[in-house]
Formats: sequence, C-alpha cells, structure tokens
Amino acid sequence: MAQSAVIRPGHVCLRVLDLEAAVRHYRDRVGLLEIERDSEGRVYLKGWDEQDWFSVVLREADHPGMDFLGFKVLGTDALARLESDLNAWGCVTERMPAGELRHCGERVRFQLPTGHVVELYAQKDFMGNGLGRVNPDPWLEGVKGMQAQRFDHCLLYGRDIDGNIALLRDVLKFDLTEKVVDGELVVAAFLSCSNKAHDIAFVRHAEDGKFHHASFLLGTWEEVLRAADIIAMHDISLDLGPTRHGITRGRTIYFFDPSGNRNEVFCGDYTWYPDHEPIIWTADQIGRAIFYHDRRLNENFLNVVT
Ligand code: FE
Repeated sequence: MAQSAVIRPGHVCLRVLDLEAAVRHYRDRVGLLEIERDSEGRVYLKGWDEQDWFSVVLREADHPGMDFLGFKVLGTDALARLESDLNAWGCVTERMPAGELRHCGERVRFQLPTGHVVELYAQKDFMGNGLGRVNPDPWLEGVKGMQAQRFDHCLLYGRDIDGNIALLRDVLKFDLTEKVVDGELVVAAFLSCSNKAHDIAFVRHAEDGKFHHASFLLGTWEEVLRAADIIAMHDISLDLGPTRHGITRGRTIYFFDPSGNRNEVFCGDYTWYPDHEPIIWTADQIGRAIFYHDRRLNENFLNVVT
C-alpha cells in the first residue's frame, strides 16, 4: 500500500485525577520533560528525543482515560485533503483553532467508529531535542527516571474495530500490520502509518471509547529492566512484565499512572515496510501472541481500561 500522509502519533491528551501526582509520574518516573502549562491548567510534556513542542498533555478531570489522540500529517495540503476524504467517507470533522493547544496549529478532529476522538494536524512548533542538528551528541544528559525517548502508540478498546480498520486503511492509508482473529472475527488489530510495527492498535470490547495504554519508546532491553527497577523503587502499580510480545515482538513492561491509566515502555519492534502482508494470530494462540514467554492471558491486562 502507498505510504500514508500521516507521519506519526504526535500527541495524546490524558485525563488525570490529581494533576501534580500525574506530573510527578510522567516527569520524574517515565522521564518526560515538562514543557509548559496553559491557561486551562493543562500540562504539556515531551520525550527528550522528540523535536516538536509536546507529545503528552495532562488534564485534571474527575475520571481517568484519554481525551484525544493526535496524528501529525505532512503539511497543510495533506491536512485539507484528508479532511475532505474523511468527510467523503461519511466522517464528520471539526476544526480546532490554532493555539487551542499551545504551539500547535489547526487540528482536524473526528471520531473513530469506536467513539475515540482523533485529530490530525500539520503544524507544531519546533523545540528540538537539545542536541542540535550539527555534530549532535547521541543522548541528552540529566533526563529523569525511565528516560522515555518519545511517545510511540496507543491501544484503544471499543466495539466496531472493523470500522476503525476500514477508516484508517481506506482514508488515512494506514497499513494493517497484525491482527488477532477468532474464526472470521477480528478481535485485535495493529496498524501503522510508518515503518513501525504499529502506530495505533485496537481490541474489540463491549464498551466504546476505552483507553488501554499509552506507550513510550526506550532504547534497549536493559532500559526496560531499569524501568522495572524504577517501578519497584517508587512503588508504582505494576501491571505486567518485563516480558516479550509475540505481536510486534516488543520487549515491554506495563504499569499504571496514579490515576489508573495504563502506560507501557518498550523497545525493539521490527521494521514494517508497505509491501509486507499482515501477520495473523489465531485465537487459540492468543496467550503467546500477547505474552510470548508466559503464553497465558492475564485477565487484568485484558479487562482493566480507563
Ligand atoms: Fe503497546
């Protein structure tokens, strides 16, 4: 399939119950850099190796979960074209004005068939990764905690994941990289707009609009083990791991922020190319697909969502 005009998941806005506790978690434990706060009290953060102004926005609310997920697209022409393609597909869009999120241009917002709010944007101010572009050093000194490099993907739960797959493939030109099938029924789907094994994923679930996890990239398996140490050191609620996914091959650990939103840090998926065919996992091998070592499902992992 043709490469997508969508570049990457560029930001996620998460609802948190206690803003300061959440900032301590994402800044001091996950290791994101706190960039700024806006007049609504939202906190903006980024991974040290991200070039744009922010990738995580925290908003205090009375229940946890995801407000929206934003994808950066290649230029304003592509943004306008995707907006009209979405409309032609039957998807209602809304333009969020430039500056509604600090340092971010206009966003085209719409709902996935599963009810999740997704937005596309073409412009966000450049901050850089602190290393410069001429003779840069390989990493930034003084980064805290797990030293997450960047926001990588989200896994979302809802009913009509077939509709999500159709919209993302047909309109936004994502590739389906992996799916889990139970007979004819697709129970999970992994999609990429890039060379990553996934940029977004879905699991079929009775309730729409649910958030399973936001994932951040680490450099090595050693760093995943070090993340596990940090989780123990600071009594962070551990979900699962460190372990290996069959799906995407990622080496991973899952844990919860203080509001109960699940986070993942991982390293080492494979390179996806657009001439590849999707990988298929069958429901009888679902244990191995999700947790390759244990080969067993975990009820908490599957059913706890925000
Ligand atoms: Fe993940």
